[in-house]
Amino acid sequence: MPNVDPELETSVLAYLYDHPGTTKKEISKCTDYSFPTITKGIEALLDKGLIRKRGVKDTSAGRKPSIYEFEGSNYFFVGVDLSIPKFTIALFDLSKRLVASEGGFLDMEEIQGGNHSVIAESLISQVKELIDRSGISGSRIKGLGMGVPGIVRDGAFKPMTRFQTDEMVPLRGPLRKALGFPVTVGNDVDQELLSVLDYKGLHDETDMVAVYLAVRAGERSRARVNIGGSIYHNGHILQGRNGTAGEFGHTSVSVDPGEELPRCKCGNENCLDNYVNTKISQASNHREFPSEIKEALNQKIKDLLFTFNPSLLVVDMEAFPEIRREVFENAKSFSRELANELCIEEIEIDSVGDSSMACARGSIINQLNQKLREPSEYAKTFVSE
Ligand SMILES: [Zn+2]
Repeated sequence: MPNVDPELETSVLAYLYDHPGTTKKEISKCTDYSFPTITKGIEALLDKGLIRKRGVKDTSAGRKPSIYEFEGSNYFFVGVDLSIPKFTIALFDLSKRLVASEGGFLDMEEIQGGNHSVIAESLISQVKELIDRSGISGSRIKGLGMGVPGIVRDGAFKPMTRFQTDEMVPLRGPLRKALGFPVTVGNDVDQELLSVLDYKGLHDETDMVAVYLAVRAGERSRARVNIGGSIYHNGHILQGRNGTAGEFGHTSVSVDPGEELPRCKCGNENCLDNYVNTKISQASNHREFPSEIKEALNQKIKDLLFTFNPSLLVVDMEAFPEIRREVFENAKSFSRELANELCIEEIEIDSVGDSSMACARGSIINQLNQKLREPSEYAKTFVSE
């Protein structure tokens, strides 16, 4: 089967992706290609299993033309949520449907002892196992995306709080070498925001600003709460110069001048993450929820609304179910007040919904969009077979 033309194939594919159930004639009308050229594109995509015939169009007279739609079930992506010590590996098809998943724990003793390569090694063996178990042939797996807690640069990461390391820990290189498909690495909270935007159908909205504040319980208990964040602007996650943009957990809160707080690894004492965790440990003997935490979170949300004036603010209060509702209501009423006072549009406030697969799912979304819509990426992925 000679390859036709990646430009043509991605245009037809993108069209069917966005408009399932269209005929060749309709695609030809909406793209710059002639009917015979569209026919060639359709044949190439059918051949690769990226689209399928859905039936025929019900027309009043004459031969009924076939209608086509995107077919997402023949190729797969691996999404990884590296939470440390826990990790989750999930296999999705091109329609972002979850096909199989597997969880595991990293050997923290090894990692704390300085053996960081155990992270990549554990992931590699679990990914291979999951693929084996799923019975899917390796050639149908088109990439792996991963979300990690910390600062990410060039496929390597440095955790802020999970373990001590002076160097960036490489992930992309070792995984790509061992698995043989493209690997991308990003911050976990960024990936979750991408998943939320995708669910809401907002992923392609170029002019939107979305901000995400995640307050999560540590893996095994609430003794350690992790606070992260993410900023989405102009169709991309805003990373900043070195990848630390959106780390709202390490932005300051106002504290009493007399208040003594331990130093955080970010170099600040009164950062939100440090403040909240200090208050939790101080309150561990009391039954009442420390009101300072609620106040600090409410204040942070107000700051975020003013700093970014987002169209959407996503808040995940997973660590504190007892104040979740109140914090939401507070944010909403502040947004309403702001809208009235300043004659601006009200800011939408939303939660993550089911966050268990959000990071793994989000980590494949960019790769998936690229491979299906950018001719050069598409050619690399689907033409060399
Ligand atoms: Zn900090």
